[in-house]
Amino acid sequence: MDEQHDAQNEARQRIARAVREILLAVGEDPDRDGLLETPERVADAFTQLFSGLHEDPARHLEGGFAEGARDLVLIRDLPVASVCEHHLLPFAGKAHVGYMPDGRLAGFSELARVVDGYARRPQIQERLTAQVADALLHGLDASGAIVVVEATHTCMVMRHAETTGSTAVTYAARGVFEEDSGHRAEVLALMLRGMASN
Ligand SMILES: [Zn+2]
Repeated sequence: MDEQHDAQNEARQRIARAVREILLAVGEDPDRDGLLETPERVADAFTQLFSGLHEDPARHLEGGFAEGARDLVLIRDLPVASVCEHHLLPFAGKAHVGYMPDGRLAGFSELARVVDGYARRPQIQERLTAQVADALLHGLDASGAIVVVEATHTCMVMRHAETTGSTAVTYAARGVFEEDSGHRAEVLALMLRGMASN
Protein backbone atom coordinates (compact mmCIF):
# COMPACT_ATOMS: atom_id res chain seq x y z
CA MET A 1 0.00 0.00 0.00
CA ASP A 2 2.86 2.38 0.91
CA GLU A 3 4.65 1.53 -2.31
CA GLN A 4 1.53 2.37 -4.28
CA HIS A 5 1.24 5.64 -2.39
CA ASP A 6 4.90 6.51 -3.15
CA ALA A 7 4.40 5.75 -6.84
CA GLN A 8 1.32 8.00 -6.93
CA ASN A 9 3.24 10.82 -5.25
CA GLU A 10 6.14 10.45 -7.67
CA ALA A 11 3.75 10.53 -10.65
CA ARG A 12 2.05 13.62 -9.28
CA GLN A 13 5.39 15.42 -8.86
CA ARG A 14 6.43 14.51 -12.40
CA ILE A 15 3.22 15.99 -13.79
CA ALA A 16 3.69 19.16 -11.73
CA ARG A 17 7.29 19.57 -12.99
CA ALA A 18 6.11 19.09 -16.59
CA VAL A 19 3.32 21.67 -16.17
CA ARG A 20 5.80 24.18 -14.78
CA GLU A 21 7.97 23.50 -17.84
CA ILE A 22 4.98 24.11 -20.17
CA LEU A 23 4.24 27.42 -18.44
CA LEU A 24 7.84 28.53 -18.95
CA ALA A 25 7.84 27.36 -22.57
CA VAL A 26 4.73 29.39 -23.48
CA GLY A 27 6.32 32.50 -21.99
CA GLU A 28 4.55 32.59 -18.63
CA ASP A 29 6.07 33.21 -15.22
CA PRO A 30 5.20 30.13 -13.11
CA ASP A 31 6.31 32.01 -10.00
CA ARG A 32 3.74 34.79 -10.24
CA ASP A 33 0.97 34.68 -7.66
CA GLY A 34 -1.87 33.27 -9.75
CA LEU A 35 0.24 30.41 -11.13
CA LEU A 36 2.11 29.37 -7.99
CA GLU A 37 -0.09 26.39 -7.21
CA THR A 38 -1.16 25.67 -10.78
CA PRO A 39 1.30 22.78 -11.43
CA GLU A 40 0.01 20.92 -8.35
CA ARG A 41 -3.61 21.64 -9.24
CA VAL A 42 -3.12 20.36 -12.79
CA ALA A 43 -1.32 17.30 -11.41
CA ASP A 44 -4.33 16.53 -9.20
CA ALA A 45 -6.72 17.07 -12.12
CA PHE A 46 -4.71 14.83 -14.47
CA THR A 47 -4.40 12.12 -11.84
CA GLN A 48 -8.18 12.09 -11.57
CA LEU A 49 -8.85 12.44 -15.32
CA PHE A 50 -6.57 9.49 -16.12
CA SER A 51 -7.40 7.25 -13.16
CA GLY A 52 -9.15 4.82 -15.53
CA LEU A 53 -5.72 3.72 -16.82
CA HIS A 54 -5.24 1.77 -13.61
CA GLU A 55 -8.46 -0.20 -13.69
CA ASP A 56 -10.35 -2.62 -15.88
CA PRO A 57 -13.76 -0.95 -16.13
CA ALA A 58 -15.38 -4.21 -17.27
CA ARG A 59 -14.89 -5.55 -13.73
CA HIS A 60 -17.91 -3.45 -12.67
CA LEU A 61 -20.03 -5.95 -14.60
CA GLU A 62 -18.70 -9.01 -12.79
CA GLY A 63 -21.34 -8.98 -10.09
CA GLY A 64 -24.51 -8.32 -11.98
CA PHE A 65 -27.61 -10.23 -11.05
CA ALA A 66 -29.23 -13.24 -12.62
CA GLU A 67 -32.83 -12.52 -13.53
CA GLY A 68 -33.36 -14.73 -16.53
CA ALA A 69 -33.86 -11.43 -18.37
CA ARG A 70 -33.96 -11.50 -22.17
CA ASP A 71 -35.42 -8.09 -23.00
CA LEU A 72 -33.73 -4.87 -24.01
CA VAL A 73 -32.21 -2.61 -21.37
CA LEU A 74 -31.49 0.93 -22.53
CA ILE A 75 -30.03 3.80 -20.50
CA ARG A 76 -30.00 7.23 -22.06
CA ASP A 77 -28.00 10.32 -21.17
CA LEU A 78 -25.21 8.90 -19.07
CA PRO A 79 -22.71 11.73 -18.61
CA VAL A 80 -19.38 11.33 -20.44
CA ALA A 81 -16.31 13.43 -19.72
CA SER A 82 -13.00 12.42 -21.24
CA VAL A 83 -9.76 13.80 -22.67
CA CYS A 84 -8.88 13.56 -26.35
CA GLU A 85 -5.54 11.87 -26.76
CA HIS A 86 -4.55 14.01 -29.76
CA HIS A 87 -4.63 17.35 -27.95
CA LEU A 88 -5.12 16.45 -24.27
CA LEU A 89 -8.20 18.67 -24.26
CA PRO A 90 -11.53 17.58 -22.80
CA PHE A 91 -14.53 16.30 -24.66
CA ALA A 92 -17.87 15.90 -22.93
CA GLY A 93 -21.39 14.80 -23.68
CA LYS A 94 -23.68 11.85 -23.21
CA ALA A 95 -23.68 8.12 -23.75
CA HIS A 96 -26.72 6.04 -24.58
CA VAL A 97 -26.09 2.45 -23.69
CA GLY A 98 -28.22 -0.57 -24.52
CA TYR A 99 -27.84 -4.31 -24.21
CA MET A 100 -29.83 -7.44 -24.79
CA PRO A 101 -29.24 -9.60 -21.73
CA ASP A 102 -28.80 -13.33 -21.89
CA GLY A 103 -29.98 -13.97 -18.35
CA ARG A 104 -27.75 -11.53 -16.46
CA LEU A 105 -28.36 -7.86 -15.67
CA ALA A 106 -26.05 -5.07 -14.52
CA GLY A 107 -27.04 -2.34 -12.07
CA PHE A 108 -27.64 1.03 -13.73
CA SER A 109 -24.88 2.64 -11.66
CA GLU A 110 -22.49 -0.12 -12.76
CA LEU A 111 -23.13 0.84 -16.40
CA ALA A 112 -22.26 4.45 -15.56
CA ARG A 113 -19.02 3.24 -13.90
CA VAL A 114 -18.07 1.28 -17.01
CA VAL A 115 -18.50 4.39 -19.19
CA ASP A 116 -16.59 6.48 -16.67
CA GLY A 117 -13.72 4.00 -16.37
CA TYR A 118 -13.07 4.00 -20.11
CA ALA A 119 -13.53 7.78 -20.27
CA ARG A 120 -10.87 8.46 -17.60
CA ARG A 121 -7.88 7.91 -19.85
CA PRO A 122 -6.47 9.56 -22.95
CA GLN A 123 -9.15 8.64 -25.48
CA ILE A 124 -10.70 9.03 -28.85
CA GLN A 125 -14.49 9.01 -28.90
CA GLU A 126 -14.64 6.15 -31.41
CA ARG A 127 -12.58 3.81 -29.21
CA LEU A 128 -14.46 4.80 -26.06
CA THR A 129 -17.73 3.86 -27.79
CA ALA A 130 -16.36 0.51 -28.98
CA GLN A 131 -14.81 -0.34 -25.60
CA VAL A 132 -18.10 0.20 -23.76
CA ALA A 133 -19.96 -1.97 -26.29
CA ASP A 134 -17.34 -4.76 -26.05
CA ALA A 135 -17.36 -4.62 -22.24
CA LEU A 136 -21.16 -4.99 -22.15
CA LEU A 137 -21.17 -7.86 -24.62
CA HIS A 138 -18.40 -9.86 -22.94
CA GLY A 139 -18.72 -8.66 -19.32
CA LEU A 140 -22.40 -9.57 -19.12
CA ASP A 141 -22.34 -12.39 -21.69
CA ALA A 142 -25.09 -10.35 -23.32
CA SER A 143 -26.49 -11.38 -26.69
CA GLY A 144 -26.10 -7.84 -27.99
CA ALA A 145 -24.79 -4.40 -27.08
CA ILE A 146 -25.30 -1.00 -28.67
CA VAL A 147 -23.73 2.32 -27.70
CA VAL A 148 -24.13 5.86 -29.03
CA VAL A 149 -21.93 8.67 -27.72
CA GLU A 150 -22.56 12.33 -28.58
CA ALA A 151 -19.93 14.79 -27.44
CA THR A 152 -18.52 18.25 -27.97
CA HIS A 153 -14.74 18.42 -28.29
CA THR A 154 -12.87 21.37 -26.85
CA CYS A 155 -10.15 20.90 -29.49
CA MET A 156 -12.80 21.45 -32.18
CA VAL A 157 -14.47 24.36 -30.41
CA MET A 158 -11.27 26.25 -29.63
CA ARG A 159 -9.09 25.59 -32.65
CA HIS A 160 -11.47 25.55 -35.59
CA ALA A 161 -14.13 28.21 -35.85
CA GLU A 162 -15.94 26.18 -38.53
CA THR A 163 -16.64 23.27 -36.15
CA THR A 164 -17.76 25.36 -33.17
CA GLY A 165 -21.16 24.14 -32.00
CA SER A 166 -20.88 20.78 -33.76
CA THR A 167 -21.35 17.48 -31.97
CA ALA A 168 -19.52 14.26 -32.79
CA VAL A 169 -21.74 11.19 -32.74
CA THR A 170 -20.19 7.72 -32.59
CA TYR A 171 -21.89 4.39 -32.62
CA ALA A 172 -21.01 0.75 -31.98
CA ALA A 173 -23.20 -2.33 -32.33
CA ARG A 174 -22.29 -5.85 -31.25
CA GLY A 175 -23.95 -9.27 -31.31
CA VAL A 176 -27.65 -9.28 -32.27
CA PHE A 177 -27.54 -5.54 -32.98
CA GLU A 178 -24.76 -6.08 -35.47
CA GLU A 179 -26.54 -8.98 -37.14
CA ASP A 180 -30.21 -7.97 -37.02
CA SER A 181 -31.00 -4.65 -38.69
CA GLY A 182 -34.61 -4.75 -37.41
CA HIS A 183 -33.47 -4.96 -33.79
CA ARG A 184 -30.92 -2.26 -34.41
CA ALA A 185 -33.41 0.15 -36.00
CA GLU A 186 -35.84 -0.34 -33.11
CA VAL A 187 -33.20 0.50 -30.49
CA LEU A 188 -31.72 3.39 -32.44
CA ALA A 189 -35.21 4.89 -32.74
CA LEU A 190 -35.52 4.81 -28.93
CA MET A 191 -32.09 6.42 -28.60
CA LEU A 192 -32.74 9.07 -31.25
CA ARG A 193 -36.09 9.97 -29.73
CA GLY A 194 -34.14 10.90 -26.62
CA MET A 195 -31.68 12.99 -28.60
CA ALA A 196 -34.39 14.89 -30.51
CA SER A 197 -36.09 16.03 -27.30
CA ASN A 198 -32.91 17.57 -25.89
ZN1 LIG B 1 -8.59 16.61 -30.07
